[in-house]
Amino acid sequence: MSAYLILIIVIGALLVVAGGAFLLAPRARRRPRAAKPGAARTGATQTTEAPPGEAQRAGAGGGGGAATTVPGAPPVEGMPPAVVLEKPPPSAGRMVRLRARLARSQSGFGSVLLGLLARDTLDDAVWEQIEDTLIAADMGITPTRQIVDELRTKVKVLGTRGPHEVRELLKAELLGQIGADGDRALRIAHSGDRPAVVLMVGVNGTGKTTTCGKLARSMVGDGRTVLLGAADTFRAAAVDQLQTWGARVGARVVRSEREGADPASVAFQAVRDGIADGVDVVIIDTAGRLHTKTGLMDELGKVKRVIEKQLPVDEVLLVLDATTGQNGLRQARVFAEVVDVTGIVLTKLDGTAKGGIIIAVQRELGVPVKLVGLGEGPDDLAPFEPETFVDAVLSG
Ligand code: GDP
Repeated sequence: MSAYLILIIVIGALLVVAGGAFLLAPRARRRPRAAKPGAARTGATQTTEAPPGEAQRAGAGGGGGAATTVPGAPPVEGMPPAVVLEKPPPSAGRMVRLRARLARSQSGFGSVLLGLLARDTLDDAVWEQIEDTLIAADMGITPTRQIVDELRTKVKVLGTRGPHEVRELLKAELLGQIGADGDRALRIAHSGDRPAVVLMVGVNGTGKTTTCGKLARSMVGDGRTVLLGAADTFRAAAVDQLQTWGARVGARVVRSEREGADPASVAFQAVRDGIADGVDVVIIDTAGRLHTKTGLMDELGKVKRVIEKQLPVDEVLLVLDATTGQNGLRQARVFAEVVDVTGIVLTKLDGTAKGGIIIAVQRELGVPVKLVGLGEGPDDLAPFEPETFVDAVLSG
């Protein structure tokens, strides 16, 4: 009997201890786990929500830019940390701002040309040196010959040549070759309430994904809303890279969690979500695997066809690395055969003195250079302005 009594007392004591421990346990340990941010919304394709910026976007009429956190508000337990959105500068005036970088890389061949043209006597040997300098700047043989022929005639007519005249002569020739009055504006001023669609194509390593991110930023800086489609599904790093770019400026990124997923289905989903979200522009990054022309053609052709089931593609921007010279021109030729390129983005112009590639590639494709990359910084992408470029070339 006394054994039973002892057992009852022990069980009672254990229950009291266990109950006290339960009551004293930290509250947080009993709370349900917070939902993971960016959870899947669709089946095959996962879409990642923009950081909590949608409310701000709706309120600001698509401005995109100001921070979405409420100043001074305490962090809410269980919520993902608030993201402070960046406010990129507008696209206007960027090339002038980056002019020094351009002058540093390009003025070498400009000053050589100015020096040669300023010589007292311009004999055949000097003209040959002028020709060599232009060719060395990747200008291409035909434009070089045209420039030299024009200059020879004008110099003869002019008679005397001071530094100012020489500079003006050369400026006119270079601008004539680049095309000063062509329309270089991106076709993103959409009609009605549909988003404009921009397809980015180019070989891996040219800076295509970076350019998608920079372009999204610059559009946000101009007050547009953007959705990014990560259709370069063969490189997980490219998808993550795009995600980071988007998150910084509140642009939603549509991606697939599966490496090697069908790029066309991601592109389709991106356009569908872009329409549903009512964004201004959908930018789609594509895979740049130049395996075979047929493979590339199949892949890009399918992506474009699938997008066009919903909306027309307004811009096909070919991203080319300015430092690759003739190789870049070869890539341009292949891509132009596969898709209707409507504009060229020339990246890494800060890293080469061969700015003549602008003239060569425009001639090759018959489409204008619309944007230039002038560095690795997030805002180092500028709408191409021929006059600013030529001034930088001749600034030496
Ligand atoms: P992708 O493979 O074509 O998507 O190339 P990425 O976007 O990953 O870029 C490749 C590298 O080029 C990265 O290190 C970029 O920072 C760099 N890059 C891109 N654009 C520019 C540019 O205009 N100037 C410089 N200097 N580097 C650039």
